[in-house]
Order: sequence, then C-alpha cells, then structure tokens
Amino acid sequence: MQCPRCAHDGMVEIRMQLRGEDVAFRRCGRCEHQRWSTAEGDLALGGVLQLARAR
Ligand SMILES: [Zn+2]
Repeated sequence: MQCPRCAHDGMVEIRMQLRGEDVAFRRCGRCEHQRWSTAEGDLALGGVLQLARAR
C-alpha cells in the first residue's frame, strides 16, 4: 500500500474489529500520515471514536 501523501511504499496496516465491523488502520512510516478505513471506505477519526464508544 502506497502512502497517498508522500508516495512512500510500505504503509503499516493493522486490522481490527470495532463493534463487529472490520476496520483497518494504516500508517506511513515516513510522513506519519494516518488513515482509518472500513469495508465501506475511508473513515474519519471521529467515526472511529464513535464506533469504539458505541454501546
Ligand atoms: Zn507518507
């Protein structure tokens, strides 16, 4: 996976489940660009926190 910001090839990807949803967290080791996404597309950080907090 290539970083959309600095084009560094080799973002770290961590997959996890929040509230039963598959969520992927990707982080660039060069520019520290971070991005969350679900199967439906990119997720804003606020959306992640909402998922994590939802009861
Ligand atoms: Zn980058």
